[in-house]
Amino acid sequence: MSSVIVMNLIVIVLFYFYNILNIFAILPIMYANIESILDKVVQSHTLCEKEILYLLETKDTKKLFSAADEIRKKYSGDEVHLRALIEFSNYCKQNCLYCGLRRDNSHVTRYRVEPQDIIESARKAKNYGYKTIVLQSGEDSYYTVERMAKIISGIKDFDFVVTLSIGEKTFEEYKAYRDAGADRYLLRIETTDETLYNKLNPGMSLKNRMLCIENIKKLGYEVGSGIIAGLPGQTLESIAKDIVYLKSIPVDMAGIGPFIYHPDTPIENIKGDFFELSLKIITILRLLMPDINIPATTAMDTLNKEGRLIALQSGANVIMPSITETIYRKYYEIYPGKVCLGATPADCRYCIENKIKSINRRISTGKGFHIRQSGL
Ligand code: SF4
Repeated sequence: MSSVIVMNLIVIVLFYFYNILNIFAILPIMYANIESILDKVVQSHTLCEKEILYLLETKDTKKLFSAADEIRKKYSGDEVHLRALIEFSNYCKQNCLYCGLRRDNSHVTRYRVEPQDIIESARKAKNYGYKTIVLQSGEDSYYTVERMAKIISGIKDFDFVVTLSIGEKTFEEYKAYRDAGADRYLLRIETTDETLYNKLNPGMSLKNRMLCIENIKKLGYEVGSGIIAGLPGQTLESIAKDIVYLKSIPVDMAGIGPFIYHPDTPIENIKGDFFELSLKIITILRLLMPDINIPATTAMDTLNKEGRLIALQSGANVIMPSITETIYRKYYEIYPGKVCLGATPADCRYCIENKIKSINRRISTGKGFHIRQSGL
């Protein structure tokens, strides 16, 4: 027999062997049901990508949501951590296709809050009992490292935990903020589908995004990341990969926002139940990472007026009430239909407290760091 024939035979045998192995790999999923997958994840807090996909596709959401709520209760208790959010600038040099703050959106009235006024807003937040200040903005170069360091250290003087959500920076910039006292950093990965990411975020790259998250982790920040659920072109398969990625970091906080179409953006307006999809993602993350912090995002209230409360009952344990001064709120429009635009910081504080009490939960008096109680 010639060596070519032998080689061909080997290739054929390997091909069949590979397919048989694949069949064995998917057999357990074919015969899985919601109970067996939930049993597994509740015990081990692990799932393979195909099992995550099964949960994303399930119609049996009641069991899924209540399993996550039980895990939340076991590891995080009934306390809800409040993070006071200051949206201090809506200028952005980036041009993400889905975002109302994108550089090319000329319909936005742009604003910036001066460093001293940001610190003053934080000072006032002390009176409402907040322990964390979240500083959020577009990627705005006006806030140089020196300006940011001054803001961070000014806020730290009031004994706050400081979270930054100001986009992609260099390692040195992240280090300077950390040296100034910043404790946490939020940088959503948005999607781990590289083709989709690069298409939706022109001029940016998934590789750099991942590198930024690695650097944040290296510098000892608590790492927050997350995705947008329902982006045009996104598949459930890619969301399953996103979830695996978030667990692999592993994140200390995971924020999931439903896609909400903004008419002043060039993206396609697609319809879908992204509220339920977001809830499913929250629940799966809670089951996989039982003690991380998961916010009930404000965007959930845009799609369902009880959205944040429903999220809190499906695995979430954090709320980020806005303390952005009322005059600026309507201009920070990443997506339209945002709630509480006419509210004051005081209104938001008391409204949230009443909502939390209405579901028999209570506001945490601690700083709300990620405490690894599950041993994961
Ligand atoms: S998503 Fe963030 S980085 Fe992208 S345009 Fe909006 S504010 Fe800028």
